[in-house]
Amino acid sequence: MNDIIHLLPDSVANQIAAGEVIQRPASVIKELVENAIDAGARNIQVILKDAGRTLIQVTDDGKGMSETDARMAFERHATSKIKSAADLFALHTMGFRGEALASVAAVAQVELRTRRPEDELGTVICIAGSQVESQLPSNCPAGTSFFIKNLFFNVPARRKFLKSNETELRHIITEFIRIALVYPEHHFTLTHNDTEIYELAATNRRQRIAHIFGSKNNNFSRQLLPIETSTTLVNISGYIGTPETALRNSNQYFFVNGRYMRHPYFHKAVMQAYDRLIGNDVSPNYFIYFDIDPGSIDVNIHPTKTEIKFENEAAIWPIITAAVKEMLGKSNAVPSIEFDVEGAIDIPVIDRSRPAVQPQVTVDPTYNPFQTNSERSQHYSRPPMNWETLYQDFEKPAMQPAYFAPPEINQEIAVAPSQLSAIADQPDAAPENSNYLLYKGRYIITGGKSGIMLIDKQRAHIRVLFEQFIDQLNYRRGISQQLLFPEIVELNAADALVLENAIEELECVGLDIALFGKHTFSINGIPAGLEGKDIQSIVGDIIDCVKNKDANVKEVLHENIALTLAKASAVGYGQQMTFEEMDHLVGQLFACSNPNYTPDGKRIVVVLTNEEIEKKF
Ligand code: ADP
Ligand code: MG
Repeated sequence: MNDIIHLLPDSVANQIAAGEVIQRPASVIKELVENAIDAGARNIQVILKDAGRTLIQVTDDGKGMSETDARMAFERHATSKIKSAADLFALHTMGFRGEALASVAAVAQVELRTRRPEDELGTVICIAGSQVESQLPSNCPAGTSFFIKNLFFNVPARRKFLKSNETELRHIITEFIRIALVYPEHHFTLTHNDTEIYELAATNRRQRIAHIFGSKNNNFSRQLLPIETSTTLVNISGYIGTPETALRNSNQYFFVNGRYMRHPYFHKAVMQAYDRLIGNDVSPNYFIYFDIDPGSIDVNIHPTKTEIKFENEAAIWPIITAAVKEMLGKSNAVPSIEFDVEGAIDIPVIDRSRPAVQPQVTVDPTYNPFQTNSERSQHYSRPPMNWETLYQDFEKPAMQPAYFAPPEINQEIAVAPSQLSAIADQPDAAPENSNYLLYKGRYIITGGKSGIMLIDKQRAHIRVLFEQFIDQLNYRRGISQQLLFPEIVELNAADALVLENAIEELECVGLDIALFGKHTFSINGIPAGLEGKDIQSIVGDIIDCVKNKDANVKEVLHENIALTLAKASAVGYGQQMTFEEMDHLVGQLFACSNPNYTPDGKRIVVVLTNEEIEKKF
């Protein structure tokens, strides 16, 4: 029998390798821009057509390549960056596997124009599907230009799996930002279909961050607190956001030796430092750069992997937490005395006729600013407490915050979800006698056939409004209240792109937004019910919500828009309600497709069944 094993031709091997390295246009941009940086370029231009599907052009003013190198660069395992395995442990360049260009050339039509500054003539080489088609001398500028045309032209399955242009462009922007944040002293531009998305002049780190994430309105640069720590293990530097600027979708970046990384463990270290300074539903911005001996991290970094293993993770945790805490403490982000409140310290005017008395300074030698309150309380001797008075508040339920139900009721409302839906899903589940009691400003209590029903009024309203907005989006019939004075919002490039793509949908719910200038929009009309609300932050919330989803899917877009608007316009807990209002709301709720839960899964209705009540007696 014949032998059956044979070597794959290079073009096939390269295509297989390309599957790992080049997944989408964004991967090409990452590889080419990293190469440009490794080549010592200072100015790097990225030009795209159709989110990189038709053309990706990366032009740099780096050291260029010789005629032979230009050809060699496309060979697999061809690299100028390492020579031996030992070099792997001292890497300071972005690339080293020599796979990127071979992979790109396997799945696209590539033209490379390059000239070393010292050469008179450069070279232009054309390759398609790993086959060199031509190489000629060329009178090109010093540096390198790659033109990647028709990505995946020979891998239709891959091409088919590319997402919409908006999604692919978002991936490109993500990769582009990750590199731009590490190299502020480089000048970058990103242009898509002749529209400039980013023009990032060479600057310092703080300004680069502000340029990317800030807008004229929000003075981002001033909200950044610098951190800096040097230890034998690691050097940490960068910026953290003030607690007030924490967001639901914040910008969080870790970099190690100039490379973006995801690191859930270190993320927790940062979050711990913000403990109790920010709400549960938000998180701070941070841009933290680690500088570490390349020998102490996993060197076999895969080009597409963003998770990096450190040798001493547990030892680095406290260094991060301390650095962040120290800065938060210094910046007064940790709560301190507020001088504009009543009882502020009275600073006396100097009276020169009185003899000066040396002030007494008291120091607490045990005070450690890094201890959490609970740790600290173990060391402090508290002033004696009158324990009886502690219980007084419990005897006066009216003093409790409106949103805390007393413990007995809490137990009762823990109805198993199955039981709950069994009751509330019945058509006759809607309250039958129309008696309503508003309990603690939050719960509408009413009797039903099978028991007592507690309805969270705000959540009920959110459900009702959500379904109304969805309806408007589907049937395109939202009514807009025109604003007398349009509000102008200026956004950063990435957010502007998201909003621009959503404008048409937003119009359906009555949110009338028009492009006003570069990255600037004017809000001309708002949906009824949103009068007097902070419309800019509502638009910000919609962008945040949509940004992380595939905005392609209309339903997801609709749901996010509808939910954001419903939350913004729902009744507040404090607001009183008349009998008619409660009756109307409850009626509307039970006409909804799912009256039991809010669109984001929070329980609206809880039933205390007759049997349960009887059991209690
Ligand atoms: P790697 O970056 O891992 O070495 P690549 O396939 O990305 O592998 O690139 C192969 C080689 O081509 C690089 O080592 C470098 O010598 C050369 N090269 C690639 N891009 C450029 C560029 N923009 N300017 C100069 N040389 C480049
Ligand atoms: Mg490379």
